[in-house]
Amino acid sequence: MDSIEKAVSLIKKSNYTIAFTGAGISTESGIPDFRSSGGLWEEVDPQLFTAQNFIENPIEFYELALPLFKEIKEAEPNPAHFALAELEAAGDIEAVITQNIDNLHQQAGSESVLEIHGHLRTGSCQGCAKEYSFAEIEELMQKDGPYCLDCQGLIKLDIVFFGDSLTTEFMEARKLASQAELLIVIGSSLEVSPANLLPQLADKSLIINLSTTPFDSQAEVVINDSASRVLAEIAELA
Ligand code: NAD
Repeated sequence: MDSIEKAVSLIKKSNYTIAFTGAGISTESGIPDFRSSGGLWEEVDPQLFTAQNFIENPIEFYELALPLFKEIKEAEPNPAHFALAELEAAGDIEAVITQNIDNLHQQAGSESVLEIHGHLRTGSCQGCAKEYSFAEIEELMQKDGPYCLDCQGLIKLDIVFFGDSLTTEFMEARKLASQAELLIVIGSSLEVSPANLLPQLADKSLIINLSTTPFDSQAEVVINDSASRVLAEIAELA
């Protein structure tokens, strides 16, 4: 049995499978990940995405990050996102837990998606919780800056920064991962804590990632190949 057949067999035997995705599932949609060669960390200082930096330098944050986020918002799902939506529709996976903020799972048709690091659809005033769309925040940045029209509070995109506290979505993700008979990790270096703890909660895991991860030795099957190629094949065979 080759590794893709082994992966399909694991999926078929499992009664409760969760997919756990990271930036690597979206590189084939043209969005760079963080840690690969050519990834975002070669262009941008990780410090930009800390909660403290955002509070101290919100205007600088938006000036640097909005062009990056705009590119992410223009990306389209790739065959890996579509394959996961197909597996969900066929009843082979229950839900996708994603670290990504790119909305590509939903665009591909996945219905049950937990975004543990938030999303780029909206931002919220840190003072009065008024919600703003991404386009409205872009517009405010052209005028008086990222401040609430009602109370002048700072508007923060609804994404999780390094140093932010855990979201309710993360708590829910932890519950789903604990219930999982199989957790499929796709395109994640498993280096960002606490998200990287989720695979350890499931009974079994399958890893589809271009490079090795610290969790490989604990997985049933590891496939070091392109997420879109592998998942399209799995969806066809499953
Ligand atoms: P990471 O950059 O740490 O790791 C990505 C992993 O994906 C790497 O190990 C790489 O080998 C692998 N990979 C790259 N292209 C692949 C492909 N085509 N097929 C299979 N594997 C591939 O990413 P992470 O673990 O998700 O952690 C980074 C954090 O940054 C997360 O919070 C993530 O949400 C966020 N982020 C999100 C996006 C996005 O929304 N698309 C983009 C960059 C970073």
